Amino acid sequence: MPKFFLTIASRLTLWYAGIFTISSGVVFVLFYFLASGMIQHQIDQDLLEKSNYFSTIIQRNGLAGARRFAVLEAQAAGEKMIFFRMLFPNGEVYASSHMSYWKNVSVSKTALDNLLQYKRHVFETINIGPAKLKARILYSFIAPDVVLQTGLAMQASARFLSAFQKVFTGAMAFVVLFSALAGWFMARKALSGVETIRRTAENITGLNLEARVPESGNQDEFDSLAHTFNQMLDRIEILVKSIREMSDNIAHDLKSPITRIRGFAEITLVHKQDMNEYRSMAASTIEEADRLLDMINSMLVISRADSGASDFIFEQVNLSSMIADACELFLPLAEDNGIAFKFDVAQDIVVHGDRRMLQRAFSNLVDNAIKFTPEGGQILIRLDVEADGYVHIRVEDNGMGIEEMDLDKIFERFYRADPSRTRTGSGLGLSLAKTIVKEHSGQIKVTSSKGNGSVFLITLPYGNLEVI
Ligand code: ADP
Repeated sequence: MPKFFLTIASRLTLWYAGIFTISSGVVFVLFYFLASGMIQHQIDQDLLEKSNYFSTIIQRNGLAGARRFAVLEAQAAGEKMIFFRMLFPNGEVYASSHMSYWKNVSVSKTALDNLLQYKRHVFETINIGPAKLKARILYSFIAPDVVLQTGLAMQASARFLSAFQKVFTGAMAFVVLFSALAGWFMARKALSGVETIRRTAENITGLNLEARVPESGNQDEFDSLAHTFNQMLDRIEILVKSIREMSDNIAHDLKSPITRIRGFAEITLVHKQDMNEYRSMAASTIEEADRLLDMINSMLVISRADSGASDFIFEQVNLSSMIADACELFLPLAEDNGIAFKFDVAQDIVVHGDRRMLQRAFSNLVDNAIKFTPEGGQILIRLDVEADGYVHIRVEDNGMGIEEMDLDKIFERFYRADPSRTRTGSGLGLSLAKTIVKEHSGQIKVTSSKGNGSVFLITLPYGNLEVI
């Protein structure tokens, strides 16, 4: 099929032109039949009137009077226009008007039979002359044994109908042309929005995500399509930017430990050291490698959970003892940093969850609290079941706090509010914590302001062993 016919605009044009032409054609044809029907009805009425008049004449003046009347009446109306022929029921002609113009018109046997058998009068339409001019013929009884055959040339109606046909042909040609043009114009105009969107989409490449479809604001279908399309582009742009940022961050965060590992190996190769120093370098290498592995593991947990393929092992977890044990471990670290570390853990709180993962989530929060609280600060940990029926794990510090603009972003992968990245960390701790909490049907929230410390709150469904 040619490409032209594959476009919606051309198909709409064809439909439009087709529908317009067919409906106008139907209207014209109906009008034609209505007009010709009315003209014929009028002619029939005239013929019947004449026939009635003949009946009256016969009653008053007898057959001879009717004969004279036929000649005079035909002369008065025009002998080419009308004729009168009086017949006996067997078809024998008794008298007629001047018939030289009508000599081809015979007496129809069928019409006479019909008249005799069923009806008071019978109409026929016949062709007269070579020009296919038509005439309407009436057979009717004007006296018990006298039939009047009278015919009227349908010249006026023929003229009207032929003029009508000409107008019809001209008008139809115009309608087809006009409807095709109007259809094409309207389809092009209606679909121009699609073309704009197509061109915008064509302009967008991985490098240029700024292009947007102009929105007309008139709230029609194309405007809302353009709006949705632009919203989609906004989201894609944010996503692509964050992927770029993330890959920059990954590169940056992987580079440092790998550089350090390489440095240790180089020193070991180049300089002769005693055994203890070799040992300490091996230990540092393991530490760096562990940090890398930890990062990679965190990324795997997050992306598996994102794709719905997490491998968490759910069991009944005594959160109280888990958190108390972790706090005991963190206490010396906090004290070494000159931070007061207090914890208030309610007894026997049980949740349905993955022990190792919950431990990681909690440790990340406490680790951050210690990292971002200066000497002399304090950290408060609290675990309890609150009035809302949820288990609340609260990690509060009075450390450096978080800027408001960073609050939404700190849960994103690799995001670190400190752009200089002077402190250790991967930017994965909070996003891992969020993923873990989400997998436990819980929530993690933060309230913080710069310089006033932070409160991280994890809420988890209590106990819910029945879910298992
Ligand atoms: P990391 O600690 O490895 O940098 P996280 O995902 O755990 O990564 O935290 C992301 C960022 O959130 C941190 O870099 C820090 O800027 C900010 N942040 C997290 N916890 C705290 C806190 N308790 N106080 C201040 N800032 C915090």
